[in-house]
Amino acid sequence: EVLINQIAAGEVVERPASVLKELLENSLDAGSKAIEVQLTQGGIKQLRITDDGCGIDKEDLALALERHATSKIASLEDLEAVGTMGFRGEALAAISSVARTKITSRARGASHAWKVSERDHEPMPAALNGGTVVEVEDLYYNTPARRKFMKSDSTEYGHCDDAFRRVALARPEVGFQLSHNGRVNLRLAPGDAERRAREILGDDFMEQARVVDVAASGLRLFGFASLPAYARSNRDGQYFYVNGRFVRDKIIQHALREAYADILHGNRHPAYALFLELDPAGVDVNVHPAKTEVRFREGRAIHQFVFHALTRTLAAPVQ
Ligand code: ADP
Ligand code: MG
Repeated sequence: EVLINQIAAGEVVERPASVLKELLENSLDAGSKAIEVQLTQGGIKQLRITDDGCGIDKEDLALALERHATSKIASLEDLEAVGTMGFRGEALAAISSVARTKITSRARGASHAWKVSERDHEPMPAALNGGTVVEVEDLYYNTPARRKFMKSDSTEYGHCDDAFRRVALARPEVGFQLSHNGRVNLRLAPGDAERRAREILGDDFMEQARVVDVAASGLRLFGFASLPAYARSNRDGQYFYVNGRFVRDKIIQHALREAYADILHGNRHPAYALFLELDPAGVDVNVHPAKTEVRFREGRAIHQFVFHALTRTLAAPVQ
């Protein structure tokens, strides 16, 4: 059990992309409509996220980096011990234990902003028009054993780009921007699901994609799925969400593979942006906080539904 906790805690802050995912989720939780991400050296040197959300007031800011920590976490062993307390409210505390972390935030209605850092949890007055800026620098500067597991800047950037796209695809009503080493790589204006899918998966995907929209017995699957002629040689364009959360689930993947089995040949992979919605009671999304697993109560029914919804959509004659 101790071992499981240690492994799990390490995975919450596995690499820059996992930090980015947590920070993006926090910004979205805060009701942000515009989120800007600036990365330096794959996010290892710096990861900066600016949002226009509700902000954090002075009292909460004082606790944001230590909410559940009884003392300052300085070693890898301490970080792993954090896992025993569970993951709710642990992200910022965990991140700030392995990276130089600053939060500047101005709560709505506050006369000015406040700022805290991993070294000083006492808020200091700061300047900011609104929202929150989180800066995470020198990931694992104090835990060389972990630092060794990070790959090259470009590999880590690639993982950050993946994490960013996964979040952005599911939230088309929010504007996002991603830059790396001072250069803007992705600028996503707020819009509808179709426009966002086009931006994330590309024009050539969208030109041929089938619109999926099937509902039955409390389940709904909607989104876009490629026709066989479009199939890619890799799995990059595969996005599946359950109640808005990106998942990579065995049951779902099997259902999709089956739906494409007779129409895709060789080493070809479909691309899709699909959103499954169901009663939250029918799915456990907290199998692991940093992973993409879920557990369905009625796995067979979900499999059947996804398989049939897709088979029917792909087989429909072209209008
Ligand atoms: P959790 O998200 O599970 O509560 P975190 O450690 O990720 O835990 O964040 C701690 C708290 O800090 C959040 O509950 C929230 O109140 C506040 N917070 C973090 N990021 C932001 C943000 N970008 N905007 C507003 N509040 C934030
Ligand atoms: Mg969080």
